[in-house]
Amino acid sequence: MEAPKFESMTDSFGRAVNYLRVSVTDRCDFRCTYCMTENMSFLPRDELLTLQELERLCMVFISKGVRKLRLTGGEPLVRKGMMHLVRALGRKIGSGLDELTLTTNGSQLALHAAELAEAGVRRLNVSLDSLQAEQFRRITRRGELSMVLEGIQAALGAGLGIKLNVVAMRGVNEEEIPDIIRFAHGQGMDVTLIETMPMGDVGEDRSDFYLPLSELRRTLADHFTMLPMDYRTSGPARYVEVAETGGRLGFITPMSHNFCESCNRVRVTCTGTLYMCLGHEDAVDLRAVLRSGADDVEVGRVIDGGIARKPRGHDFVIGRGEKPAIRRHMSVTGG
Ligand code: SAM
Ligand code: SF4
Repeated sequence: MEAPKFESMTDSFGRAVNYLRVSVTDRCDFRCTYCMTENMSFLPRDELLTLQELERLCMVFISKGVRKLRLTGGEPLVRKGMMHLVRALGRKIGSGLDELTLTTNGSQLALHAAELAEAGVRRLNVSLDSLQAEQFRRITRRGELSMVLEGIQAALGAGLGIKLNVVAMRGVNEEEIPDIIRFAHGQGMDVTLIETMPMGDVGEDRSDFYLPLSELRRTLADHFTMLPMDYRTSGPARYVEVAETGGRLGFITPMSHNFCESCNRVRVTCTGTLYMCLGHEDAVDLRAVLRSGADDVEVGRVIDGGIARKPRGHDFVIGRGEKPAIRRHMSVTGG
């Protein structure tokens, strides 16, 4: 039987949507202070898409023009059977997909790095907010720094390119950021600095440690010569080259700078909800469609309905004592 033909996805502002982020689980072995509460309750299993449903949905998106797919979570590598999904998607590289990537906290990376490389993954984002074991433990509430460092070494050893994601927090890891940059660049890794975003109630006032990157950038200028560069990934980061290290340093500033005009992405949560924008509540329930017995053409049509509603941009605001602008946690939507 001939595979169904799909329309590629372009939103009402003429932006081609070719980048999909999929959160494969809301569960995680860490409880990072900016992301979750200490006693986070996770979703009942039947609310999550099965791995088969995730695979099917990803395949429909790939047929509709998604060229780059990022698996995230929660922690993607804690989902049982995850490597099966990675291998299935890896087989689409070169026949639909240009790139398959993961965002991970690195805790399970030592176990999976070689297999990820074999499946066709070439690059990973690894989140690392501190190089001091105790501080790392405080931020993640239960993470073991040494395991993440081992995971990073295993991934580099398997030939994977790594970008470290660092959430910049005032009075927490602020002072350490120059060291993290030197550490990463010393091993050929890029670094991206991220501002805290007001997503999900985390039981703390995030504005206490909100550090605008414009301010951090001024401090970093005392340590490094930051040269403008044209380098762009398909993500929202803007990069500079650090003259002293020769490495790349990216800034993601959703709060202080609007990066929406070139947005090419949509997200699917672990429950199969399609969000057209990280900063809006508008969504499409794809799980219901998948479970209704609809064929792939029908699933594609429902996706198109969502893409047509992709908003022009987000409207995040972070203010003292304010409720999170977006109620869902990043671990459900996928960072
Ligand atoms: N568990 C994986 C990890 O930590 O890399 C993948 C999921 S995590 C939600 C993805 C990224 O989102 C991480 O780099 C994390 O630091 C970031 N993140 C989570 N909550 C955030 C928030 N409220 N503001 C900014 N970044 C956040
Ligand atoms: Fe887990 Fe990633 Fe959230 Fe940290 S940021 S709690 S590692 S999902």
